[in-house]
Amino acid sequence: MPYLEKPKKFKKVKSLAKHINYYNCAAWTKLRLSYIVEFPLCQLCLYKGRTSPVEQVHHILPIHGSEDLLEQRNRAYDPENLLSVCSECHVELHNLLVLDPMIYRNLIKFMKN
Ligand SMILES: [Zn+2]
Ligand SMILES: [Zn+2]
Repeated sequence: MPYLEKPKKFKKVKSLAKHINYYNCAAWTKLRLSYIVEFPLCQLCLYKGRTSPVEQVHHILPIHGSEDLLEQRNRAYDPENLLSVCSECHVELHNLLVLDPMIYRNLIKFMKN
């Protein structure tokens, strides 16, 4: 039976900026390492009065939340925009960011001070 190839649909790429990977480079590896050396515990757990080792590094302002390449770069590599988190808190933060951005911002303020 002849195999009929379906015509490929090319989705128009809305923005190239959405596809840049800022993690796959030496700059990120270095920054991430120096950040977790400085903050070896999950900062949200600390805020809750618990101690858990850092598992991931969270970007407070999401990198791809901006379409602007320069802004994305700033967000990606600014230590002020980073937070040490455990995987559980990381999920929690991302949910909060979507569900209640205002509470999210206030929470971050407390943690960064
Ligand atoms: Zn945590
Ligand atoms: Zn994150």
